[in-house]
Amino acid sequence: MPPKPQKKPPLRRCLGCNTQRPKRELVRVVRTPQGAVALDATGKLAGRGAYICPQPACLAKARRAKRLERALEADIPPEVYEALGAQLGAAAGKGDAPDA
Ligand SMILES: [Zn+2]
Repeated sequence: MPPKPQKKPPLRRCLGCNTQRPKRELVRVVRTPQGAVALDATGKLAGRGAYICPQPACLAKARRAKRLERALEADIPPEVYEALGAQLGAAAGKGDAPDA
């Protein structure tokens, strides 16, 4: 078998700090076909997705600039932001995300 060229990890841009990072270092936020907005811990949920660093600060920035609404083309009520923030806080404390 010929050696494979080193594959670059897929990059995604954080909606908060606008930095490109490997997809696995970011958290996916998804708008499901039912219209709910939630963190997608597995990265496999169906729906329109956006990416953000697992940091409450980035969520706050994205919220202020309404980037999440724009990316997902959805209205995001404050309680959803609070739920996302709580989940992000939990994710940020865990260190590296496990491989899916
Ligand atoms: Zn960020």
